Amino acid sequence: MATEKESLPQARIDVRDVTKRYGSTVAVNQLTFQVEPGRVTGFLGPNGAGKTTTMRMMLGLDRPSDGEVLINGRPYARIEEPLRHVGALLDPAAVHPGRRARDQLLVLARSNRIPDVRVDEMLDRVGLSSVTKRRIGGFSLGMRQRLGLAAALLGDPQVLILDEPLNGLDPEGIQWIRKLLRELAEDGRVVLASSHLMNEMAVTADHLVIIGRGRLLADVSMTEFSARYGRGRVRLRTTRPERLGKALAAEGLTLTAMNGGMWEVPEAQPDHIGAVAAREGVPLQELELYRDSLEEAFLRMTARSAEFTAAAGREALI
Ligand code: ADP
Repeated sequence: MATEKESLPQARIDVRDVTKRYGSTVAVNQLTFQVEPGRVTGFLGPNGAGKTTTMRMMLGLDRPSDGEVLINGRPYARIEEPLRHVGALLDPAAVHPGRRARDQLLVLARSNRIPDVRVDEMLDRVGLSSVTKRRIGGFSLGMRQRLGLAAALLGDPQVLILDEPLNGLDPEGIQWIRKLLRELAEDGRVVLASSHLMNEMAVTADHLVIIGRGRLLADVSMTEFSARYGRGRVRLRTTRPERLGKALAAEGLTLTAMNGGMWEVPEAQPDHIGAVAAREGVPLQELELYRDSLEEAFLRMTARSAEFTAAAGREALI
C-alpha cells in the first residue's frame, strides 16, 4: 500500500475494498484500486461491469455498501466547493433541455465562486463558443459531451472523472478529446475515463484499470497489458508440415493447419520455430509473429464476466 500523506494530500482517487449491492445484484465487488495523477487512466469493462456505479460512488452520488472511496484523501461529501477539486462527466443527457449552454455553466460557476469569465474560456476550449446562446435541447450528443466537459473543467480541478467521454463523438471529436485528456494529464491531474471499448482506450490511456462483474481484473500500464495479454502466435508456410509438426510436438508445441496453406503455432516465438526448422532441414517459405489485438485480449479477459453481468442486469430490472 502507498503511504498516506495526511498533511498534504496529493491529487488521487482511492477505491478501498468497495462493494455496492442493489438488492441481490452485486454491482461492485470488493474493488480496490488507486488512480494516480499525471497519466490518463482508462477504466475499462463490458457494459454492466460496474464502472458507472464506481464513478457515482467517487462523486458521492451513491454510497458504498462496504468500503470507502476517497478523493485527495477524503470522501467527496467532505470536499468544500467540490467543482474546484473534482470535475465530472456522467450523463450528458441529464441537462435541462430548455436552458442555454452558457446559462447552464453560469449556474454551476456562481454556486462554486468561479468567475463568469471562466465560463466563456471553457466554452471556447471545448469548441462551443459559437453556440453559447443556443438551447441545450437542440444539441447533438457530441455537443452535449463537449458541454459536459466544459462543466467538468470549470473549476480547474485536479481530478477528472469522465464516464464514457468518447461516446457520441465523431472521429474528429475523438481526436480532440484524446489530445485534451493528454494535456490534462500532463498538467499533473488525475484523469479517469471509462469505456467499454478497448480500441478506444488503446490510443487514449497510459494506464488501465479493467473490471468485470464488479471485480478488478487488471491494473496495468498500457504497455504491460499488450506485452502480458496480447498472446503471440507464429504463422508459417512450409512444404514439409508433417516433419515440422513432429519436431515441434517433441518441444511441446502444436502445428495447426490454417486457410490458404498457412500453418500456425500458438504461444510460440519465430526464432524458436526457425531454429527447429533449420535443425530438421525443413524449408520455410514464410515465418511471422502475430499478436492478438488488444481488443481480442480484452474480450478474452472479460468474456466470463460479461455472461455473468448480462444475467445480473436482467435481475436488476425486476
Ligand atoms: P457499467 O457502467 O460498467 O456499464 P453499471 O455500474 O451501470 O455498469 O452497472 C453495474 C451493475 O449494477 C449492472 O448489473 C446494473 O444493472 C446494476 N445497477 C446499476 N445501477 C443500479 C440501480 N440503481 N439499481 C439496481 N441495479 C443497478
